[in-house]
Amino acid sequence: MIDTLVLLRKQLHENPELSGKEHETANSIVEFVKDFNPTQIIEGIGGTGVGVVYHFAESGPTVVIRCELDALPIVEENTFNYRSKNSGVSHKCGHDGHMTIVAGLAPWLKEATFKRGKVVLLFQPAEETGKGAANVIEDSRFKN
Ligand SMILES: [Zn+2]
Repeated sequence: MIDTLVLLRKQLHENPELSGKEHETANSIVEFVKDFNPTQIIEGIGGTGVGVVYHFAESGPTVVIRCELDALPIVEENTFNYRSKNSGVSHKCGHDGHMTIVAGLAPWLKEATFKRGKVVLLFQPAEETGKGAANVIEDSRFKN
C-alpha cells in the first residue's frame, strides 16, 4: 500500500491545478478511492470538491477529515522526473502530500470494523484563495 500511495503522491505532484480548477486532481482522487468501496462518492462539492463517505451499520456521529486539492501559481524548478507538467503551477503548499495522507485512509476504512456513524474524507477545493471552504459549507450536499 505504501508504494501505491507514493505513486499517487507523485501523480498529484506532477499534475497541479490552480484554485477552483482542480478537475483532473478531483478525478485522480475519485479513481483512487473507488477501489476501496466507499458507501458514496460525492463529486463537485463547493465547485470541484470530493466527499468520500463511509457509512457504518448504525447511525451515529459523523467525522470529517479534510484536505485540499489546489496548487499554487509558482514555477517548479525541481528536476526530478515527477516535477510539475503544468508550467507556472506547482504543489508548493504540500497539498499533494496532504491529499495522499487522507486518500490513504480509504484502504484503512474499507477494512474498519466501526459499528456506527460515518467518516467523510473531504477533498476541499480552492484553499489558497480562501473561497473553497465557504463554497463547501454553502453546498447543500455538504450540509446533508
Ligand atoms: Zn495551502
